Amino acid sequence: MTLLDFRLTETHAIPLDGLAQHVGATPLIPLRRLTSNLSPRVKVFAKAEWFNPGGSVKDRPALNIIQNAILDGDLGDGKRLLDSTSGNMGISYATFGAALGIPVTLTLPANASPERISILRTLGAELILTDALEGSDGAMLVARELAEKRPDLWYANQYDNPANWQAHYLSTAPEIVQQTNGQITHFVAGLGTSGTFTGTSRYLNELLPQVKTIAFQPNAPFHGLEGLKHMPSAILPGIYDPTLAGNPLEVQTEAAHKMIGRLAREEGLFAGISSAAAAVAALQVASELDEGVVVAIFPDAGYKYLSDKSLWEG
Ligand code: PMP
Repeated sequence: MTLLDFRLTETHAIPLDGLAQHVGATPLIPLRRLTSNLSPRVKVFAKAEWFNPGGSVKDRPALNIIQNAILDGDLGDGKRLLDSTSGNMGISYATFGAALGIPVTLTLPANASPERISILRTLGAELILTDALEGSDGAMLVARELAEKRPDLWYANQYDNPANWQAHYLSTAPEIVQQTNGQITHFVAGLGTSGTFTGTSRYLNELLPQVKTIAFQPNAPFHGLEGLKHMPSAILPGIYDPTLAGNPLEVQTEAAHKMIGRLAREEGLFAGISSAAAAVAALQVASELDEGVVVAIFPDAGYKYLSDKSLWEG
C-alpha cells in the first residue's frame, strides 16, 4: 500500500486553512529525569499530542474523516456528522465541525467528565448521553441505532472507518521518523479505537521494518484509563489488527495514576491519564534495553480530568 492509495493528493486538494492547518507537527519531548536510571544510550520521547488545536491526538483522525466525507459528498446539505466518543474524538469533531459549519451529533457515556461535556456543549455539539454502565461500547451501539433511524445523520464510525488509522499513517508516523532522524527503535501506543497504533505501526513497518511497534492496553475490563480499551472484553474495533498488535503490554490504572504526579514534577508535563499509562509502558520497554530510541504517544493533557480528584493527589 502506498500513500497515494489514501488519496493524499485529493485530500490535500481541500485547502487546509485556519485551524486545520495546525493539526499535527506536535513536539517530541525527551523524558530526561524519569530515565536517569536507564542506560545512557537509551532515549525515551513523548509525542505531545495535546499541542493539537482540539487538545488531543484525535484531531488527526477527526480531520481526516471529515475531509474524506466532504470529498465523498457524505456531508453537506445540512447533514450532521454522527459518532460515538469517549470525549476526545467528539471534541475534535465539534472543533472542526464548528470551524467548517458542519453540525455534529455525539453519543457518549453519561459519566464522561463534566469538563468534556461542557467543552462539547460550548462547541455546539448535540449530545446524546448513554448508559454509564455500558461505557464506550454502549455509546457505539446507540450511535448505530440512531444512524438507522435518522436520515439527517451521516455516521462517521471511528471504530470501523479506515480514514482513522490512515490519518496516523499520513501524519503521525512520518513526523516521528523525521523528528528522530530515522533513529527510532521502539514505538509505543495505547489501544482505544487502535487507530493511532495501527496507522503509525503500518507506516513504520513499511519504512523502517527493524522498529519494534508495541501496543498496550488496560490490564482489566474495568479500569480508569480513559480513552483506552481492554480488547479481550471489548467489542473489537473493525480497524483493529491483532496481527499488528500481537500481545499488547498491560498497564495497571494504579501505576498510571502514580505516573501522573511523576510526569508533572520530574518532567513538567501535566499529562492525561492515558499519557501517563504510555509513560509506564514506554519506561518498561526502555528498562529492558542497552540502547535505543523509544517514542510513545501522549494523547492528551490533564486539564480535562481536573474534576477527578483521585488523579491529582499522588
Ligand atoms: N487516549 C485518549 C485520552 C483517547 O481519547 C484515545 C482515543 N479514544 C486514546 C488514548 C486511544 O487512541 P486510539 O483511538 O487512536 O487508539
